[in-house]
Order: sequence, then structure tokens, then C-alpha cells
Amino acid sequence: MIFCFATNNAHKLEEIQALLGGAFVLKTLSDVGCHEDIAETADTIEGNSLIKAQYVWDNYQINCFADDSGLEVAALNGAPGVHSARYSGIRDYATNNQLLLKNLADITNRRARFKTVITLIINGQAWQFEGTVEGQIIETPRGTQGFGYDPLFVPTGHTRTFAELTLPEKSQISHRARAFEQLVAFLSKQ
Ligand code: IMP
Repeated sequence: MIFCFATNNAHKLEEIQALLGGAFVLKTLSDVGCHEDIAETADTIEGNSLIKAQYVWDNYQINCFADDSGLEVAALNGAPGVHSARYSGIRDYATNNQLLLKNLADITNRRARFKTVITLIINGQAWQFEGTVEGQIIETPRGTQGFGYDPLFVPTGHTRTFAELTLPEKSQISHRARAFEQLVAFLSKQ
């Protein structure tokens, strides 16, 4: 079966291709001729995931899936959530992390979770798969691996931040890995 994975991130594509095995052929957005920016205008992670997959189906009529992720902080009513990539107004990890720490100053409830939602569309019918990982936001960034909010996030049951875990360690427990596990399990039954 051929799918478009609505990304241009070759590394992400390679990871998912390895999980899916040879029965599935994955194409990137540029492979299917989609070079435009898909506007992510929804106010939820679920909504943006659906927008991306629906755009590919509507415009290219190819079976596809799209992922969207974010960090939800309990004491901030779920922020930055859908706005995670540009929380501070710009797409800059360090600036976003600084703003998060500022907004959590003096707040003792540091509970947070990462969430990924994948939307799969086969012949026009959509399914969604969610993966989450619970944890805490620490007060000072630690670690150099990963990206985004990783230096501030300690997953429950661990002492190291996501940025102090190796990629294979993070991939065992991450929100993205959990969502993709569900997608893979579903596709393996098709
Ligand atoms: P995307 O939908 O995968 O592009 O994620 C949107 C934003 O959420 C990223 O730009 C990051 O700020 C944040 N984010 C998503 N996943 C992670 C993660 O695994 N670690 C740290 N930050 C993440």
C-alpha cells in the first residue's frame, strides 16, 4: 500500500518507514507534488492533524497520514498546546522555553504532557490515533539531545529530561512513538 506521510522531514519518514516495514511505501509531501505550505489554522492538535491529512487527500487523492504534536501544561490550562511551535510568537526553542519558565514561575503544579495526534485517511475515511506521555516541567533546562521543550520535561518514572535521554531511549516512551505504534498496529491489520 502506498501512503503520503504529510511531512517533508526525511528523518521522520525514515523512522516511520522502518516501523511499517516493506508492505507500505511512504512518500513525502514533495514526492506527491505538494510544495505549498498547509495552513494549520485549527485551535486543537487534533484539528491541525486533520487539516494536514485532509488537505493531502482533497488535493492529491492519495491515502495519507499526518501528525501534529504539542506540550500541554496543566497549570496553564493546556498551553502552549496547539501553539507549542510558536509559543513566544517565534519558532525558536530557547525563547519558547524561557517563556514557559516565566509563565510557571512561582507555580508549584508542574504537571505536563506531550501529545501527538495522527490522522490517517484511507479512501476518504479518517481515523485518529493519540499518543501521550505524562511528566513534569523542571525549573532549569537540562540536556542537549532532542529538540523543543525536551530540556524542561522529565517523564514520569524517570529522573532525566527528554534532552538527557538518547534518541532510542526517548523513542521507547515518547508521545510520538506511542501514537505511531497505534497507527502501525492498525495498518498491519489492513
Ligand atoms: P510538531 O507538530 O511535531 O511539529 O510539534 C509542534 C511543536 O511541539 C514543536 O515545534 C515543539 O515545540 C513541540 N514538540 C513536539 N514534540 C516534541 C518533543 O518530542 N519534544 C519537545 N518538543 C516537542
